[in-house]
Amino acid sequence: MANEVCFSTLHLDKSWALSTYQAAGGYAVWKRILKNKTSPDDIISELKTSALRGRGGAGFPTGLKWSFMPRNTPGQKYIVCNSDEGEPGTCKDRDILRYNPHALIEGMAIAGYTIGASIGYNYMRGEFYEPYDRFETALEEAYKAGILGKNIFKSGVDFDLHSHIGAGAYICGEETALLESLEGKKGLPRFKPPFPASYGLFGRPTTINNTETLASVPYILANGGKWFLELGRPNNGGSKLFSVSGHVNKPGNYEVPLGTPFAELLEMAGGVWKGKELKAVIPGGSSTPVLPAKIAMEMDMDYDSIAKAGSMLGAGSVIIMDETTCMVKTLGRLAYFYYDESCGQCTPCREGTGWLSRVVNRIEIGKGQQQDLDLLLDVAGKIGGRTICGLGDAAAMPVMSFLNHYRDEFQFHVDHKRCMV
Ligand code: SF4
Repeated sequence: MANEVCFSTLHLDKSWALSTYQAAGGYAVWKRILKNKTSPDDIISELKTSALRGRGGAGFPTGLKWSFMPRNTPGQKYIVCNSDEGEPGTCKDRDILRYNPHALIEGMAIAGYTIGASIGYNYMRGEFYEPYDRFETALEEAYKAGILGKNIFKSGVDFDLHSHIGAGAYICGEETALLESLEGKKGLPRFKPPFPASYGLFGRPTTINNTETLASVPYILANGGKWFLELGRPNNGGSKLFSVSGHVNKPGNYEVPLGTPFAELLEMAGGVWKGKELKAVIPGGSSTPVLPAKIAMEMDMDYDSIAKAGSMLGAGSVIIMDETTCMVKTLGRLAYFYYDESCGQCTPCREGTGWLSRVVNRIEIGKGQQQDLDLLLDVAGKIGGRTICGLGDAAAMPVMSFLNHYRDEFQFHVDHKRCMV
């Protein structure tokens, strides 16, 4: 089905059409599973071999996640796809919805079969007009071809898939807030435990995976877990879509094997623009710690290598900053974003994000005081780990890493009331 990489149909003419997908071998795995009544345990075992890790941010092993579902428990269970993609810097899932929606549909059908869920939902970000239309058209095609629905290919297996468009709140990318939103309520994260595998959508066992994760599944099962694993590195199987943005000549989505050197990825994206020097990189989306150029240029792009370098792969959103970037102003933009997107349920996040945003802003405009630098670290340190969901950590981490690597720039703003760059 696939050649060297998972999303290799993306370059084809009308790659989103059912006929194109089927001509490239699409839905062969789904048909084979239904015909052979493949054991869910075998599918999970193949995924574990592949070392596929969640592509939405957390990097949790997919096979292990699926194994948590109580699939023999009677009653309704659900598979939910998180296509909310709100992390600043990320723009890969919308391209899967646009250019390869059938890979996601097939992946979700296989996931539903494996975990015992006969209903799936694809939750999309509110601004995804074109991707939503493409996905809806693909769904229609799949239903017409008998790929989804009741008693699929006379196998006795049912699987219905629906799409749902959110209202654009960043917090609905958090899996339990997404479930609340899908239930028609305000998107507020839930206390955990219980986790969605035991109490998910409408109180029923639910597995939630990212778009890229689910769309990878058909390729893994077509070619084998070992094939996928060997595309990448041990514990970091496969290829990955990286959204490269910022100060590069060719911003865009690049699919490369996990473990590819960062320097190579940067070169693929045309290098730093305008002949400038690289200053800093946010490797996994705005919530992941920033890295100075020297560290980034020696780093490989996989979960473990980026963690070793002091950051996270996150959703694979690589934000490039050239030598003219003011790190205080950049942090100010990020801090305001998290303040604006906090749902307000927990005090450390609701109050702390606003505090961080205001203090960084006053440093940037030349009204900062000496004690503000330690104040920022103190406030950030009191948010992380004390909140219901990860947004608190997402707001705190950039503050800590920017001050850790670029404290001299913050100090310069305080001392000279202006920017050093
Ligand atoms: Fe809401 Fe922030 Fe608490 Fe998350 S951490 S539940 S976004 S207040």
